[in-house]
Amino acid sequence: MFGKIVIANRGEIGLRILRACKELGVRTVAVHSTADRHLMHVRLADESVCIGPPASTSSYLNIPALISAAEVTDAEAIHPGYGFLSENADFAERVEESGFVFIGPRPETIRMMGDKISAIAAMKKAGIPCIPGSDGPLGDDPDTNLKLARQIGYPVIIKAAGGGGGRGMRVVHSEAALLNAITLTQSEAEAAFGNGTVYLEKFLDNPRHIEIQVLADGQGGAVHLGERDCSMQRRHQKVIEEAPAPGISEAQRKEIGDRCVKACLDIGYRGAGTFEFLYQDGAFYFIEMNTRVQVEHPVTEMVTGIDIVCEQLRVAAGEPLSITQSDVAMRGHAIECRINAEDPVGFVPSPGTITQYHPPGGPGIRVDSHLYNGYSVPPYYDSMIAKVIAYGSDRMTSLMRMRMALSELVIEGIKTNTPLHRDILTDEAFVLGGTNIHWLEGRLKEK
Ligand code: ADP
Repeated sequence: MFGKIVIANRGEIGLRILRACKELGVRTVAVHSTADRHLMHVRLADESVCIGPPASTSSYLNIPALISAAEVTDAEAIHPGYGFLSENADFAERVEESGFVFIGPRPETIRMMGDKISAIAAMKKAGIPCIPGSDGPLGDDPDTNLKLARQIGYPVIIKAAGGGGGRGMRVVHSEAALLNAITLTQSEAEAAFGNGTVYLEKFLDNPRHIEIQVLADGQGGAVHLGERDCSMQRRHQKVIEEAPAPGISEAQRKEIGDRCVKACLDIGYRGAGTFEFLYQDGAFYFIEMNTRVQVEHPVTEMVTGIDIVCEQLRVAAGEPLSITQSDVAMRGHAIECRINAEDPVGFVPSPGTITQYHPPGGPGIRVDSHLYNGYSVPPYYDSMIAKVIAYGSDRMTSLMRMRMALSELVIEGIKTNTPLHRDILTDEAFVLGGTNIHWLEGRLKEK
């Protein structure tokens, strides 16, 4: 195991990684911007290094500053967390060239998965079900593109190969609109991602978002940890996640999970990863792979008892996975609510000082948060400030515990989206389970 690592992130995930390190006896270096001196994990880390001013581009995205921090503290590895540089292949490469271990997949894997067209091609080859589409970039010939879309069937969606974060996509409902929409999406993609390559896919009208968590050691060991349902979304941002996904049978889980494991072995995957699928009419369709730990990883940890961040550290240190597929069993049910510092109705960010903080407790309740009384939420970063996770022997028990937990949760001094969560948790459709990715926005519109 490593002696010392740099945590190249902030907030709750900085703290989550620090806790895994302490458990494994790894010393920690917290890097932080000038706005983040008072972060909980900066206080708890063995060492800390200020890497720049508040703007992420000058701090958490500042590659030379991060590498210098590893050099001056004599660390062996860098954990990127999620967001920021976690899926930046150039960063992973620079880390390794500088003689440190990047806690994640090999740079080539990140690069391949970062381009949606090459990711889909690799996944198709490995036997992962994909959405019917153009199977590659769209060319310039209008007739070919019209014919292609007709074969796929309207509505179709045009997507940028280099897109991310829900940007660079356009739905087309009729042939008359196709050619214009292709040109528009190409120029937008060029401007936003520096890559105008686009491709075509069938647009699924009422899918759920279901994803498979995997762990692989790059030495022939790979397992899946079952699925999560992340259909509760607003503007392509997940709001509530749960594991297992309502209505998915053990046979379906095994079928899609085994395919993901095989794909990991095919591409020589190393580390934690997530295969994201749209799920409609009983079928899974691959959309993308995330090559990092995800925000919603705790629900999987709760139902499998496996510590995903500790496994990331072990695998990066060159150890084989500590588990095989037969050691993995999903037991009970877990739900996660993402608590954001924002207005629960207008969703305007609400940074500021927390005057009163009381996290919930009791059986099955886990709170992943860096908050404390008097902490000031800075305005510069993502608004997520806490994740409340409720575990129970079945879905109803976890739901009841989550309701109780949110009724106990006190965060004063700023606005949070807790009222929105309380509201969703009592909605008949959510209680029933299996709502699709459009459900929340439809409901917000109604209100
Ligand atoms: P990003 O990398 O920007 O998150 P994704 O490919 O993961 O892009 O897609 C983001 C979201 O867009 C999906 O979760 C889904 O809501 C919607 N989406 C993408 N492709 C399709 C499709 N073929 N049909 C319907 N919705 C889609």
